[in-house]
Amino acid sequence: MIKVEHLVKSYGTHYALSDVSFEIAEGEVVGFLGPNGAGKSTTMNILTGCLSSNSGTVTVNGADILKNPAEAKRQIGYLPEQPPLYTDMTVEEYLGFVYDLKRCTLAKKEHIAEVCEVVRIADVRRRLIRNLSKGYRQRVGIAQALIGNPPVIIFDEPTVGLDPKQIIEVRNLLRTLGKKHTVILSTHILPEVQAICDRLLIISEGRIVADRSTDELTRVIRDSRRWRLKVAGPEREVLGVLRGIPGVLRAEPQADREGGEVSTFSFESAAGTDVRADIFYALAERKWPVYGLEAVGTDLEDVFLQLVEHGGELPTEKTARRRK
Ligand code: ADP
Ligand code: MG
Repeated sequence: MIKVEHLVKSYGTHYALSDVSFEIAEGEVVGFLGPNGAGKSTTMNILTGCLSSNSGTVTVNGADILKNPAEAKRQIGYLPEQPPLYTDMTVEEYLGFVYDLKRCTLAKKEHIAEVCEVVRIADVRRRLIRNLSKGYRQRVGIAQALIGNPPVIIFDEPTVGLDPKQIIEVRNLLRTLGKKHTVILSTHILPEVQAICDRLLIISEGRIVADRSTDELTRVIRDSRRWRLKVAGPEREVLGVLRGIPGVLRAEPQADREGGEVSTFSFESAAGTDVRADIFYALAERKWPVYGLEAVGTDLEDVFLQLVEHGGELPTEKTARRRK
């Protein structure tokens, strides 16, 4: 449905996108995830024909965004980071205006009424956009993307600036839309895409660093274990022993020392390996008593940071293999 190949975009000497390629199949709901400044908006603006790239191609349902922009754009409904709302219009006037701009051919009145129903703004149709709350305005932004019933919808950070209740409403709406459309949704909030998307594309510094199914990421989070270890022993030597134990990943000393002889370390264990006995015997052999060993769990944020920092490598996979 969407094919992006080798997109490069620079602003002066700064590369916002170094080399971005991915494909999205019809009906997929894909989260485009990355920290601020990663290149999400730039990619989406190029994808929707709002911004040109230095090089690379985008095709939407076979139509090239540069060679055949009208056809490509007709397939896409876009909610940019700053929705282009005309605040002196009523909701209905504005959607009518968008309808005309898009040269939509569906029955006008019925189509606008239907879109208003879907995004639940029917009750404010005759209000000036200026007088709407942020949550309602965002829904008007979503409504304009849905005018013309495009098969692909692309939303750039649709929940930014909303309160928790509005965020839940918008997420529910996105989930509903995902049943009938191909959806690309950008966010810097991991649980957001986890709740909605089938697949996650993670972007960092203008590159795709990971492309995973949400289930796969969730499994990694469930399987990978983080631990905190307290040992009375010389810090550097303990660290060396710890790092030598098979299945121990990313062992680091922790700043929060108890003082005296006891040092604290954090590490991860590879999925399917129980490293506790090995650690106990290795330390006991050297007469460095263990004062504590507890699981601290891994959350989504950790996995996200690891993906971004380690170029898409997950804690339990390649690192574990490389150690063997
Ligand atoms: P994101 O949406 O992931 O937060 P953006 O795509 O907006 O990231 O930005 C990617 C990078 O490109 C950032 O470093 C940003 O500062 C830079 N950038 C974006 N737009 C412009 C612009 N118009 N001029 C110069 N630099 C820009
Ligand atoms: Mg952005």
